[in-house]
Amino acid sequence: MVKKNDQLVVTIEDIGSEGEGIGKYEGYTLFIKNTVVGDKVLVKVMKAGKSYGYAKLLEVIEASPYRVILRCDKAEKCGGCQIMHIDYAKQLEYKENKVRNCLARIGGFENIPMEPILGMEKPYYYRNKSQFPVGKNKEGKVIIGFYAERTHSIIDTDHCYIGAEINMPIIRFMRSFIEKYNIEPYNETKHMGLLRHILIRVGYTTGEVMVCLVINGRDFPHKKELVEGLRKIPGITSICLNINTAKTNVILGEEVIKVWGETYITDYIGSIKYRISPLSFFQVNPLQTHRLYQIALDYAGLTGDEVVWDLYCGIGTISLFLAKKARKVYGVEIIPQAIDDARTNANINGIENVEFFVGAAEEVLPRKHNEENIKADVIVVDPPRKGCDQKLLDTIISIAPKKVVYVSCDPATLARDLKYLNANGYELKKVRAVDQFAHSSHVETVALMIKV
Ligand code: SAH
Repeated sequence: MVKKNDQLVVTIEDIGSEGEGIGKYEGYTLFIKNTVVGDKVLVKVMKAGKSYGYAKLLEVIEASPYRVILRCDKAEKCGGCQIMHIDYAKQLEYKENKVRNCLARIGGFENIPMEPILGMEKPYYYRNKSQFPVGKNKEGKVIIGFYAERTHSIIDTDHCYIGAEINMPIIRFMRSFIEKYNIEPYNETKHMGLLRHILIRVGYTTGEVMVCLVINGRDFPHKKELVEGLRKIPGITSICLNINTAKTNVILGEEVIKVWGETYITDYIGSIKYRISPLSFFQVNPLQTHRLYQIALDYAGLTGDEVVWDLYCGIGTISLFLAKKARKVYGVEIIPQAIDDARTNANINGIENVEFFVGAAEEVLPRKHNEENIKADVIVVDPPRKGCDQKLLDTIISIAPKKVVYVSCDPATLARDLKYLNANGYELKKVRAVDQFAHSSHVETVALMIKV
């Protein structure tokens, strides 16, 4: 019987859905973070249920060939990277298998038409957006960094290996600025202090950089010195404040005040230009996003004559990307501000054959189809992790477009939804996973369903 606090030696045989290693001790399954297939490890049992338990890694006795030296000494504590200790090629294999297994086990698919996973060429320094919480440690020293996994305690660091490289000089400068001018970091428990977060956004194509200070107040002291100091770092085009005086753990408030430059940056995905404000949603890895959308475009197989729906369209990224190859694209998104951004983005790119609707996809699509007789040759969906609403799937089935292109950030709900489409007249033609988030367990997938 395995009990809490037991120290055991196990060999890791598999990787779980969140990137944790899975090993067995006399037939009893243990989930162990920071381990990889092939590791022989000494662990301590933290929680023991009837049929499985969770254990903590104490020591690697024999390292797996897939184990690599951690670049980041904070990775095991930080909530950002769960699988940085695994060789990148193995990370990709794991993600591809995760998609395949979901499609087989949940979706019931056999002979899955999978194309090889598209990995990143440079799996470091890829994120274009980073939010650094600011606080104080017990000794009263200023700390800036990242939240430890599942907590709000700050791990102090200037260096994040998946954030943009320019974050480092910015954070170093901010640290010295805060100390020099005695800026009071925000204290979450007491709801006191000024500076809550430092938000940095980078346009990888344009080189434009935004520094946005999220503050519990309406003004920031020593703005002149702030601007002078930040402008010495090449690339900065936007310095602004975001006002968040609420007692909340939501990072951003609604109001943005300009300090210097613009209150937005611009960037591109492919040839489409986007305007990105502190509050805008934007894909965090634009290079891989471009490749992801390229696959979606390829799967859609557009000839220029089609009416396309982009459901769950966010700021219209996929809609605008498809518009150049379609007759007309309709985008639907539930958040009104995202649709404002989508319309702005269509305008600044001079794209006229798109139209955006605010509302729930499962309500807008049937309404527009029934009342205004708008047709659909291809439907693209890119839902949040919970997948598509059942009513939407039923509407898609009744409208019967020739193709459904499903872009997914959760292979389990993808498999569930594809199974339903498959049972109602659609065949799975192609699937491809894309890695947008190296060192995390997340994986994006594009699937093509064809009407039989
Ligand atoms: N394709 C978009 C992002 C998709 S993320 C892009 O690339 O930018 C999923 C989006 O679905 C989010 O913007 C979320 O606000 C939206 N959403 C969630 N539920 C929805 C619903 N029922 N109908 C329409 N949009 C919804």
